[in-house]
Amino acid sequence: MFSRKTGILFVISAPSGTGKTTLCRRLLKEVDGITFSISYTTRAPRKGESHGKDYFFVDRKTFEKMIKEDAFLEYACVYGNYYGTSKAFVEERLSKGEDLILDIDVQGAKQVFEKMKDAVGIFIFPPSIEELKKRLINRGTDPMEVIEKRLKEAKWEIEQAGMYHYWVLNDDLEKAYQALKSVIIAERLKSHRLKRTT
Ligand code: ADP
Ligand code: 5GP
Repeated sequence: MFSRKTGILFVISAPSGTGKTTLCRRLLKEVDGITFSISYTTRAPRKGESHGKDYFFVDRKTFEKMIKEDAFLEYACVYGNYYGTSKAFVEERLSKGEDLILDIDVQGAKQVFEKMKDAVGIFIFPPSIEELKKRLINRGTDPMEVIEKRLKEAKWEIEQAGMYHYWVLNDDLEKAYQALKSVIIAERLKSHRLKRTT
């Protein structure tokens, strides 16, 4: 009776430590037909991260060459490092009808919303800045000076949440996950994204 036209581009942002990675990993495991765009970054890999799985880890020179070659759909300098989304990867996946998640910061999201009018923005809120600090400390992946830098950015990032289509509060993890999954499912059912086959 009907089928999908193209894949949907979901742009998910949150202040670092909110729980975006935790939520997205579960989504990718439990929901079919959705993949994660692997970004390029000049940040050093954290313990347990690998090249080609979490990020493509490149040096600054390589990243700047890619900027000149117009290889990025968007890119930004976040917490002192470059991060960018490959234009070719996004175009290929969407044209195959696969939904794609971009886990990117608010500067990158703004660029995507300007270029891709059909993209769906989801902003995930932490319950409070105090709770955010606790989560970053408990995660144990960043030194204290990096945590302080990220907390300072968090307030500004939350002020940008108005440009996103959906807001999800990550207080209770299960509730936040169900809310996020509901957005994905509802967006897939929008009639303008579908075409009649018979
Ligand atoms: P982000 O990707 O947004 O930086 P992570 O997914 O790495 O955040 O989560 C940061 C830390 O907070 C992790 O240790 C994670 O287990 C924890 N966390 C995530 N969601 C919750 C929640 N709802 N309640 C308590 N801790 C959480
Ligand atoms: P982390 O260093 O914790 O993995 O990520 C730091 C921040 O960079 C997060 O807010 C994350 O969403 C953002 N980020 C990751 N990849 C990209 C990207 O390709 N583009 C942009 N603009 N931000 C990204």
